[in-house]
Amino acid sequence: MMEVYLDNNDSTKMLPEVLEAMMPYFTESYGNPASLHKLGLDAETALDEARATIAECIGAMPQEIYFTSGATESNNLALNGLRLQHPGKKHVIVSPIEHASIRNIVKRWEKEGLVEVSYLKVDEDGIVDPESLRELIRDDTLVVSVIHASNEIGSIQDLRALSEICNEHKTFLHTDAAQTLGKIPMNMKELGVHAASFNAHKMHGPKGIGVLYLKKRTKLRRFFEGSPQEEGVRPGTQNVPGAVGFAKALEIALRDMDEYRPRIDELTKKLADQLLGIEYTRLNGPEVGEKRLPGNINITYRYIEGEAILMMLNMKGVYVSSGSACSSRSLVPSHVLTSIGLLHEEAHGSIRYSLSRLTTDEEIEYTVAQTKEVVQKLRAMTAFVPEKHSERESEKAQTFYRKKAD
Ligand SMILES: *Cc1c(COP(=O)(O)O)cnc(C)c1O
Repeated sequence: MMEVYLDNNDSTKMLPEVLEAMMPYFTESYGNPASLHKLGLDAETALDEARATIAECIGAMPQEIYFTSGATESNNLALNGLRLQHPGKKHVIVSPIEHASIRNIVKRWEKEGLVEVSYLKVDEDGIVDPESLRELIRDDTLVVSVIHASNEIGSIQDLRALSEICNEHKTFLHTDAAQTLGKIPMNMKELGVHAASFNAHKMHGPKGIGVLYLKKRTKLRRFFEGSPQEEGVRPGTQNVPGAVGFAKALEIALRDMDEYRPRIDELTKKLADQLLGIEYTRLNGPEVGEKRLPGNINITYRYIEGEAILMMLNMKGVYVSSGSACSSRSLVPSHVLTSIGLLHEEAHGSIRYSLSRLTTDEEIEYTVAQTKEVVQKLRAMTAFVPEKHSERESEKAQTFYRKKAD
C-alpha cells in the first residue's frame, strides 16, 4: 500500500544531509560546550557556528539567538520573561488563532488575575485586522503576540503593519513563527518584531530544538534558574547536535527554495482544486497563494466527521490531521476554525493536508482518489440528505456554500 505523509505542519521527515551534519556531535565531539578542554571547545565552536548561520538566515545578530528545546519553550520564555521583567504592565493582546502554547499561557494569566487579555479581530480568512490592534492597544499593554502563519489554516500575518503600531506605543511584539521558518524568507529587522519563536522539526530538522530570537536590548527576567548558558535566558547544557541540525535544516531550506517551492505550490493548488470539486466542501483560510503558508490546505467536508475521515484515510495509508494536533484528540472544536466563523459541526468536519518538498505528484493523485472514496462512503453511511440539512444551516454557513456554488 502507498503511504502518503501529509501532516508536515505537525512534523517533517529529517533530511539525510541534516542527520549527517549532526552525527559527529553525538559520536565524536560530544563534550559539554561549557567545558574547557578540546572536546568542550569543539562543541562550543559548533554551537557558535550554528548560531551565526541561523542569525544570518533570519537577518539577526548571533547575540540575538537563544537555543531552546522548541517553539513551545521559546513562547513560554518570551511571554513569561517579559511579564516578570515588566510587572507594572497588566494587559496583553493576542490573536484568536494562536497555537496552544501561547493561548494557554495568556488564559492562565487571566485566570490567575495577573493580566487582562484582549483578542484581535480576524477576517473570515484568519487575517488580523491591524485597525483592531489600534483600538485595543493601551499604555499598559505589555506585549502583542501574533502567530506568523497559522498551523491550521495557513493565514500569514502582516507583522510589519502590526509592529508599526506596537512601536508607536512602545509595546513589545512577539511572533510564533514555527510554521514560516524555512518556508518563506524572513528578516527580523524588516518584520520589526522584538521576539520570535522557532523550531527545527517543521522544516526537516530534528525535534527538541528551538530558537528564541530576542532583539538587542529586549530584556527578559530569568524564568529558569541554573548555570549561565544562553546568557541565563535558557540555562542548561545546550543540545549541540540539535543546534547543528537546526542550522543545517534552515540553510538547506533556503538554499533549495527556488527549486522546490514552485513544485509545492503547484501540488498544493492541484490538491485544493480537486478536493474542492467534491460537493459541499469549503477551503478554510486564504486562497492558495501569497497570503497562505506554502503547502497548507484545510478543507471542511460538510455533513461528516473529520475524525472519521482521518481514520479511514489512515487505513488507506494517507496521513492527515483534523484541526490541530492538540485539539484533534478532544471533542472541543478547533478555536481557530470557530474564530473564522465556522459552526461547531463544520469545524468537526475539517481536515488539514500539509505538503512538503518530499511530496510527489503520485501521492497527491492517490490522496485525491482516496479522499473522494472516503467522503462518499461516509456520507452514504450517515444517510446524508443535504436539502434537509441545509434548512438548519446558519445564515453564515449558507453564504459559504452558496458562494462556492456560484
Ligand atoms: C509546532 C508548533 C509549535 C510547537 O513547537 P514545538 O517545537 O513542538 O514545541 C508552536 N507553534 C506553532 C505555530 C507550531 O506550529
